[in-house]
Amino acid sequence: MHNENHDHIIELIPAYALGVLDADESAVVIQHLGGCTACRAELAAYESVVDALPLAAPQIDPSPALKERLLEQIQASPAPKTAVPPASPWQRSIADYIQEFLAGPRWQPALALAVIVLLAGAFFIWQQAGPTPLNQVELTATDAAPDAHGLIAIAANGRDATLTVAGLPALPPEKQYQLWLIEDGQRDSGAVFSVNADGSADVTVDSERPLTEYSAFGVTIEPAGGSPGPTGERVLGHNL
Ligand SMILES: [Zn+2]
Repeated sequence: MHNENHDHIIELIPAYALGVLDADESAVVIQHLGGCTACRAELAAYESVVDALPLAAPQIDPSPALKERLLEQIQASPAPKTAVPPASPWQRSIADYIQEFLAGPRWQPALALAVIVLLAGAFFIWQQAGPTPLNQVELTATDAAPDAHGLIAIAANGRDATLTVAGLPALPPEKQYQLWLIEDGQRDSGAVFSVNADGSADVTVDSERPLTEYSAFGVTIEPAGGSPGPTGERVLGHNL
């Protein structure tokens, strides 16, 4: 009787015919053979081949000298290496491919491309990460305040920006600093601010246009509350 076992058993028939199955496997084969004429026919075919095998090769007794040399060689041969689990065909083919790939000159441009792709990916993630400044505009000191430093950090949206200053002299109450956003000779006010006792300040820049549209920046000393346009001495500047 054919059952789902048949495909499994018919694969075991050659080993069964050679007598190399273990007892449990042999029992399963014998049990199946009782109800499966196809497997019995298969076994009969294999058994006739197996029976014929010893007759196919004429038995020759090797000369005593040859026997001795063979035994010497067998004893001299190194012990078999520790068995390594055989790699499956696809594992082997991937390993071969990688070895072949690394051995060839093609890996260098491919590696360069891989690095570029990774860097592009990292940059994309970095860009998505949030309020990282798109641009940092460094403001340099003038002779009016040689120890001053200034930085405008413009957010990725190009509009939100913060001015950070340090080293600016404290001003009398009637004076304040004013940030100017400059493009094509036009000067827009970006912030009016005072500094802390240590000469530092963090100021939110207020602009109707994206900060990235301006090409130059300056900080001047103005009357408290600011001016419509710069009137006082410049203490910080960029591209001026
Ligand atoms: Zn069968």
